[in-house]
Amino acid sequence: MKIIIHGGFFSESSTDLKTKTAKQEALTAIVKQSYEYLKTHTATETVVYAVSLLEDDVLFNAGTGSQIQSDGQIRMSAALMDGTTQKMSGVINIQDVKNPIQVAEQLMPYDDRVLGGEGATAFARKNGFAEYSTETPERRAEFEKKLAATGTGTVGCVALDANGKIAVATSTGGKGFEMVGRISDSATVAGNYANAFCGISCTGVGEDIVSNATAAKIVTRVTDGMPICDAFDKTFEELKPYDGFAGAIGIDARGKICHRDSHPSMVFASFDGDNVEVFG
Ligand code: ASP
Repeated sequence: MKIIIHGGFFSESSTDLKTKTAKQEALTAIVKQSYEYLKTHTATETVVYAVSLLEDDVLFNAGTGSQIQSDGQIRMSAALMDGTTQKMSGVINIQDVKNPIQVAEQLMPYDDRVLGGEGATAFARKNGFAEYSTETPERRAEFEKKLAATGTGTVGCVALDANGKIAVATSTGGKGFEMVGRISDSATVAGNYANAFCGISCTGVGEDIVSNATAAKIVTRVTDGMPICDAFDKTFEELKPYDGFAGAIGIDARGKICHRDSHPSMVFASFDGDNVEVFG
């Protein structure tokens, strides 16, 4: 059993030591709690559990504490992928729900598994998700001061369960100040992808991640036999010609954990049952 989570990148507005320590502590606690959960649950159940905890923590830009878009509203995106069934479900630009990842989970049994905008929000209401404002005073103050554009803090989790199954979940409040209708990478195969060989969750500038097809590319390379960390290296090399801003976490079927970032400030933690590795 293995698990790795990420909490996006440090924003320029929050590089202070206090925030860094708070994020290290939060990620360490959540990765350990999620590992305990993994002992008695599947990889798919566990990534939803871990991402829900991250969404509920206001330190991160997903669920409660999401960034505000250019029109003053919050729209969130989240996706879940089960590496064994190779099915992905997701919501794009959903509004006023506490845990977008849980709405994505609810969509998994349907033929229409990725819903956007009003359709996603209506599906959530129909399925018992109460109206819930994910705005915090801190994000509103950042928005008013036009500071949020420097901040990222998407969350993600990849887990390998006791039966050797892999799953991945990613959730975001977007990049802040985006145009209405923008679609981030998080609920696409560029930002969130898994199969029986590997699972990958990304963070960073959505457009750069989509341009590079980052998660799908790493998974494909591992599937074709490339060692996971080599697949990360090659894929991150390909971001360089356009200075792509991205970070990714992943686990392969043998339990090898890997992470990379193009601009080294990704916030992550992993746990293998013995050791926690947390960003420094
Ligand atoms: N990837 C997200 C987006 O572009 C932002 C992030 O990772 O923090 O919307």
